[in-house]
Amino acid sequence: MTVKPVPATMVQPGRIRVIKPGSTRNGPVIYWMFRDQRVSDNWALIHAVDEANKRNAPIAVAFNLFDSFKGANARQLGFMLRGLKQLQPFLFNSLHIPFFLFQGEAVETIPKFLVECGASLLVTDFTPLREIRKFKEEICEKLGDLVSIHEVDAHNVVPVWEASSKLEYGARTIRSKINKLLPTYLIDFPTLQPPNMRWNSSPPPFIGINSLKTVSSINIISPFIRKGAEVPEIDWCEPGETAALEVLKGSQNGFLTKRLKNYATDRNIPLKPKALSGLSPYLHFGQISAQRCAFEARNVRKVAPEAVDAFVEELIVRRELADNFCYYQPHYDSLMGAWEWARKTLMDHVSDKREHLYTREQLEKAQTADPLWNASQLEVVHYGKMHGFMRMYWAKKILEWTSGPEEALATAIYLNDKYEIDGRDPSGYVGCMWSICGVHDQGWRERPVFGKIRYMNYAGCKRKFNVDGYIAYVKKLVAESKKRKAEAEISLGQKQKEPRC
Ligand code: FAD
Repeated sequence: MTVKPVPATMVQPGRIRVIKPGSTRNGPVIYWMFRDQRVSDNWALIHAVDEANKRNAPIAVAFNLFDSFKGANARQLGFMLRGLKQLQPFLFNSLHIPFFLFQGEAVETIPKFLVECGASLLVTDFTPLREIRKFKEEICEKLGDLVSIHEVDAHNVVPVWEASSKLEYGARTIRSKINKLLPTYLIDFPTLQPPNMRWNSSPPPFIGINSLKTVSSINIISPFIRKGAEVPEIDWCEPGETAALEVLKGSQNGFLTKRLKNYATDRNIPLKPKALSGLSPYLHFGQISAQRCAFEARNVRKVAPEAVDAFVEELIVRRELADNFCYYQPHYDSLMGAWEWARKTLMDHVSDKREHLYTREQLEKAQTADPLWNASQLEVVHYGKMHGFMRMYWAKKILEWTSGPEEALATAIYLNDKYEIDGRDPSGYVGCMWSICGVHDQGWRERPVFGKIRYMNYAGCKRKFNVDGYIAYVKKLVAESKKRKAEAEISLGQKQKEPRC
């Protein structure tokens, strides 16, 4: 792939990679949206509009809904589709840009759309995850020289390829590189204006291509929710850009407006989940820009400097370190991706006797002898978001209770991706790799099973927070969730019995 910066009038050149240069055509610009599912503060959309104006061409946004992507179920798909359902009219009403929803394989649907509308440029947003990178390569091949392709890192504050050109060892090695570039990249966003040229108001009726509005009228969301019903939707976190901004800085209970000070003191107390920002679902689905969050946080730094610095460290340094790992380490979700010292120490201890050995099913059903671990597993199954501190303990115990690091890692990733609303994310793969394989960590005193991997135990948690209080808190969450589920089932049963006119 050729990589060189392009001149852009609005987007910093370092944010854009030309994957395929210069098509001579002058047709429409298509933004294939994947990771950054928002209209506001989206550098990929800004770049696409900019390019469309330069070409005096119209622009459209395309989204491909995979039949199955990384095991997503009702919880994740419901959140995503409900967000997209809001995005479509927002995009059209504020910018006159149409939104096309495709269903099937992106490798088929996206090129077909591009060819049939005579597109000259495909703009994509960036993800380091291998599936989408592979699709992009296949799309490139399929399109030949017909269409130019630009990739825009609209997810990271500092674009991943600008922050570092290599796999970083840890936060301490990437921090200064990122900080040096923040004056360039941590800036406010321009206000996007409608493009100069509008899309033909009646796009050709391609087979398999519909606007979300059309699809929603035959209710596209319900079949996905039914299909993935094993892990139901959550109801405490409203999807969409507006809700995301409310969580960041709303006047009711916004993180920066109402909860910021507690972040410095309480963010590691699992009994106080509101001390965390709660932004990860929105960040994962790109319904809010991390740059917006960091920019707004810095604006209120005077109020709580310690909290803002800690938040920005997680939001930028830790999150972008995770993207760095997944981008430069092809084995980002397997033992092969661990550093040599970690692989060695884990294999040295692979045949150590385990006090308990649990199957994946026992773990999934929270049937261990540790009530604290069971509570964290139930928190994610029923609530859909495990507290950040508990995620570390949770994953480390899986290492302790399975036959070896490979099984532990596979189980942790499986459960994380299945139940976390923010799962299937670089931060999830790296979180599991950190806990089980010592990625971005250092060696510690050697002990059974863990070797030199950092250890965590029940007694340590007990010293840190009120363990019984957390267990009781999760018990209440589970009871409430079961009650709501039962009520929903009764109401659905009644609706089905109602006569139809
Ligand atoms: P806040 O503390 O308010 O953080 C704000 C943002 O900073 C987060 O939304 C996230 O984007 C980023 N962040 C915070 N902590 C980390 C971290 N350790 N690494 C990278 N980025 C971070 N995060 C996910 O987004 N998806 C996952 O699937 C996921 N799985 C994890 C699994 C394990 C085993 C571990 C140890 C961590 C995992 N994390 C994951 C990272 C972290 O726990 C969550 O991002 C955080 O708990 C989300 O809640 P919040 O937004 O309220 O956190």
